[in-house]
Amino acid sequence: MSKPDLALLLEVGFIANEEVGYSRVFDFDFPQLRLDEDLVTENLSGEIHIARTANGLLTRAHFTATAKATCGRCLKAMAQPLACEFSELFTLPNKADANTETILPHDGKIDFAPILRDYMLIEVPISSVCRPDCKGLCPTCGVNRNSEDCGHEQNYVDPRLAVLKALLDNEN
Ligand SMILES: [Zn+2]
Ligand SMILES: [Zn+2]
Repeated sequence: MSKPDLALLLEVGFIANEEVGYSRVFDFDFPQLRLDEDLVTENLSGEIHIARTANGLLTRAHFTATAKATCGRCLKAMAQPLACEFSELFTLPNKADANTETILPHDGKIDFAPILRDYMLIEVPISSVCRPDCKGLCPTCGVNRNSEDCGHEQNYVDPRLAVLKALLDNEN
């Protein structure tokens, strides 16, 4: 697995030395890349477009990936698709003022891993669903209702609530 601190570290100082309007595109493709303690992406691919502007470097990026997840309804292992876009302006140190948000590092290197991590984490749903019409597990007998029709009442119940319901039923 590639280390994220190196995988997305770009040497962009040379772009700062180019004329306004110059741009370069960097392509990325990683079979697997850990972006965060809790986020291992697979098939991460995307590009970062970097353009020299009057005040610095304007970066625009888009990435897609999948992450291992569990369907919140049927508990099946699945690949959660993720996609994000972001744009960041890195101001040249000599153009920076009080309003500057991000200054281009003096060594001319930008590490996009923490930026990508922040944007990708926003995209991770609180609960994944393997497909929009996933019927989930039967709260009564636990069969996967996508593959089997047990004949029990077909109202959807969150499996976590189903566990709670079973506990309450036991107490009664
Ligand atoms: Zn499912
Ligand atoms: Zn059932």
